[in-house]
Amino acid sequence: MNIYNLTIEDLTTYFLKNDDKKFYATELFTWLYNKDKKIIDFNEATNIKKSTILRLKEDFVISTIEIVKKEKAKDVSKYLFKLSDNEHIEAVLMYHDYGNSLCISSQVGCNMGCKFCESGRRKKVRNLTTGEMVEQILKVENDSKIRISHIVIMGIGEPFDNYDNVCKFIKIINHPKGLNIGARHITISTCGIIPKILDIANFPYQVNLAISLHAATDELRKQLMPIAKVYPLNELIDSIKKYIEKTNRRVTFEYILLKDVNDTKEDALNLVKLLKGINAYVNLIPYNETDSLQFKRSNPLTIAKFYDILKKNNITVTIRREFGGTISAACGQLRSRKEEL
Ligand code: SAH
Repeated sequence: MNIYNLTIEDLTTYFLKNDDKKFYATELFTWLYNKDKKIIDFNEATNIKKSTILRLKEDFVISTIEIVKKEKAKDVSKYLFKLSDNEHIEAVLMYHDYGNSLCISSQVGCNMGCKFCESGRRKKVRNLTTGEMVEQILKVENDSKIRISHIVIMGIGEPFDNYDNVCKFIKIINHPKGLNIGARHITISTCGIIPKILDIANFPYQVNLAISLHAATDELRKQLMPIAKVYPLNELIDSIKKYIEKTNRRVTFEYILLKDVNDTKEDALNLVKLLKGINAYVNLIPYNETDSLQFKRSNPLTIAKFYDILKKNNITVTIRREFGGTISAACGQLRSRKEEL
């Protein structure tokens, strides 16, 4: 069992079950997460008694993923990890003026099959464990020697198709004795799995929710995102309204601009209509082109016009700043290359 799968409550239960000191849970959590130099071997937890250390070593492993490749540009680093079963996943570190954010993967591959997405080309092999998500942060912090202040769950995979592990991951990284990453600094991005949008409304952590929308009509969305056949837009929007009612939090809508697909004036007006009355923030995303897919990025003037229409209609909108254009930053590219070698 990977030690990073355990919340502080799980550790407390573990120590109590072994007739050990309850406060070891806090001690160990602190050693694992809350020191400048975090332990990578249980022996380093010097205030925990020897017999307990021996049992921990028998019961747990402390590192299960390793960095096998890194691509670096000015304000971004992209990491390829190998997992213990030789599968590969990616994480992307971005340096912002407000802090450093890490985009992590939640699954090996993805079953959502979005037509424009490199990760979606490759079917899901399995869910990531909670620990494998936590380790992406620890390994990148250790490699880069910087503190990660923001997490976006926007790498490979659909986080709401791995809901329980993702929620546990959030509990661990948010804990004050854990990595202490503020819930408001954590964003989950989903293609729109309605039952889980309703569930997350009751999750007692104020994380941000981002919806990958990419089209404002069912007809177009179904062509781009198979999930739209299961959850039509009116039901998706209803669930988001319920989420906002419950949490009082603004929801981000991601909209990739694809040349001649979803970037016309009519598309922009449809989007305005769809989001009317919703506490929404629209993030327009210049498409990262990949060799294997035919989609092209909209030209800058088209993007600017689309932006203006939203703005004029009082929608809060930004154009996503671009990272990693010179490296393989399109979601899933590094992994695809590795698997296709
Ligand atoms: N499955 C989740 C999270 C992973 S995808 C989701 O759908 O939100 C993260 C975001 O990257 C999504 O908005 C996705 O649509 C977008 N994306 C995928 N491929 C992209 C590409 N080539 N260029 C730009 N954005 C892309």
